[in-house]
Amino acid sequence: MKEFDIIEYFFNRKTQQRKDVATGIGDDCAITIMPLGQSLAVTTDTLVSGVHFPEDTPAGAIAHKALAVSLSDLAAVGAEPAWYSLSISLPEIDKVWLEAFSDSLFELSEYYSVQLIGGDTVKGPLSITVTAHGFVPHDQALMRSGAKPGDLVYVTGTLGDAGVGLDIVQGRLTASQHCSDFLVNRLNYPSPRLLAGTSLRRIASSCIDISDGLANDLAHILKASQCGAKIQIEQLPLSIAIQEAVNADQAFEYALSAGDDYELLFTVSEERKGNLDIALANSNVSATCIGQLTGKKGKLELFFEEEPYKLRNGGFEHFSS
Ligand code: ADP
Ligand code: MG
Repeated sequence: MKEFDIIEYFFNRKTQQRKDVATGIGDDCAITIMPLGQSLAVTTDTLVSGVHFPEDTPAGAIAHKALAVSLSDLAAVGAEPAWYSLSISLPEIDKVWLEAFSDSLFELSEYYSVQLIGGDTVKGPLSITVTAHGFVPHDQALMRSGAKPGDLVYVTGTLGDAGVGLDIVQGRLTASQHCSDFLVNRLNYPSPRLLAGTSLRRIASSCIDISDGLANDLAHILKASQCGAKIQIEQLPLSIAIQEAVNADQAFEYALSAGDDYELLFTVSEERKGNLDIALANSNVSATCIGQLTGKKGKLELFFEEEPYKLRNGGFEHFSS
């Protein structure tokens, strides 16, 4: 199989044909049509085998994750996804692998009505780059900046699951079959919070997706918005599976520091708080208030039931890779 045949056979599927794609795969450029009144949100992420996912990760999970992490960035700015391109570097032509990879890719594409409009296919160490494009009405994009002291801090879903999942697949932790299935699934098949993201337009004062752990990503909001934050550790949303797999202190540490959850972290002023529940009602995900912003620029303060909280391992470095 040559490059051309791989593209034709695995990637040039006609399943998802959007009206705003004038020319998709097959020419020198894709040509797309921008809707009036919308800004274009663009994001790129590269996943390298052995760096961003374990080498033995199933092909379907790699494809899902490669697209999901880019869609998660679109969610974080409140954009509605539209198109993406895929650059893939393959060490060999393995048809079974490519079939599983492309099936999973197109399944997620169809779910979110996003169309693969182009890319590049080369030989080399396994690496996948997805560039995703989405729309957001002019001046409504959610940014890391814009939060104010007093704003409430929220996260979607549950935290720390993917980090525990990674420790399970890499043999550092064991858990019951049921728990480990759930946690490894959270690692391999993250759910980009796209409906939550678009619902938060005009409501959230700032937003980011959690890719590097709550503490790290909250620090980006604090820096961009020139605020500090008080976080109530006991409020961190934990799945039943994480609570079964590790003890409470460990679960809090994963929730604060482990990456790959792809939940949204956002802030809302007290005045807009009332609108939040209605806005999120159809987004298929819960949101939990975990604290409040302060005027202490860049300072993150952790509390457990009103008492200052110290991390067991003394810091966030433990999980940073
Ligand atoms: P060129 O040499 O003009 O860059 P290529 O031969 O690299 O073109 O690609 C041919 C067509 O296939 C282009 O439309 C390109 O966008 C598309 N393409 C290449 N690789 C992929 C891929 N992995 N997924 C989707 N489209 C791809
Ligand atoms: Mg090319």
